[in-house]
Amino acid sequence: MAEFSIIDTYFNRQNRNAVDLGVGDDSALLTPPPNQQLVICADTLVAGRHFPLDTTPHAIGWKSVAVNLSDIAAMGAKPHSILLALSLPQIDHDWLKGFSQGLYDCCDQFGVSLIGGDTTQSPHLTLSVTALGWVESGQAVTRSGAQIGDYICVSGHVGDAAFALQHLGHVLQKRLDYPTPRCQLGQQLKGLASGMIDVSDGLAQDLGHILKASHVGAQIQLDKLPISEALHILPQEKQWHHALAGGDDYELCFTISPQNYDKLLQQKLDINITIIGQITKQKGLTFELDGAHYPLQFHGYQHFA
Ligand code: ADP
Ligand code: MG
Repeated sequence: MAEFSIIDTYFNRQNRNAVDLGVGDDSALLTPPPNQQLVICADTLVAGRHFPLDTTPHAIGWKSVAVNLSDIAAMGAKPHSILLALSLPQIDHDWLKGFSQGLYDCCDQFGVSLIGGDTTQSPHLTLSVTALGWVESGQAVTRSGAQIGDYICVSGHVGDAAFALQHLGHVLQKRLDYPTPRCQLGQQLKGLASGMIDVSDGLAQDLGHILKASHVGAQIQLDKLPISEALHILPQEKQWHHALAGGDDYELCFTISPQNYDKLLQQKLDINITIIGQITKQKGLTFELDGAHYPLQFHGYQHFA
């Protein structure tokens, strides 16, 4: 009984998107648009592991959706709907109210509907969201298309969330709690970017996935990394460390030919992008500063460390 009243009270708003059947039956029903592929992904947030225990329920709701829309964006796809699997230690109405509000705020901002899910009791607060989107058949941007000579670009700033985690209460904490999925940029890069990934585990590690899938290497110019003003109080290497190895940025890292980069700049973008390096034939990731090789050691986020 409690389970159904939670669903009806907090997770059964009218859908704004084209959904044939949403919350309430055994499954949801959608009609695929013609000539589109379904893009689908899932991401789980565990309290104390993926967000500090005292994170507000509103921020947890927002973030559980945002991290998934970021994965949809990284394919060049348009987000459509989400499913929510919610495991709660107990029923706390204040918490549920804030959480569902944050979740719907993120859904509303990006035109996404909550179409179903599951609600269970469990000792650990765990939120698992599945996101669905659409992309024209054959047009998805994968990790495997980077070409030698392509520019390597990143959106926004990198390292903010890692900095905020160590400076809770700083204004940059909003970048940790309320990441912005780059949904519009992702779709604009469809047909232009050769490879793309969203930065969740640290720029260097995530770029590494593109390099491996594309069988290429990369050279990064350290002085080009887009690092927020607030981080300039830190020693230089620490700033690079946050930018390259800090997690939770949810920016897009993509590779693009110089010609397509010019085409991209002819469009109106809602977030700044920065060229940080170039794809090389030589495998591996190398760093340069002022035209000279710079040895830098670090590791990205390890989920099972
Ligand atoms: P079943 O037992 O058939 O799996 P449930 O009783 O778990 O169905 O769920 C009833 C309906 O509520 C289903 O449509 C399901 O998708 C939806 N639902 C359950 N939990 C959530 C949730 N946390 N958010 C959104 N929809 C949910
Ligand atoms: Mg169920």
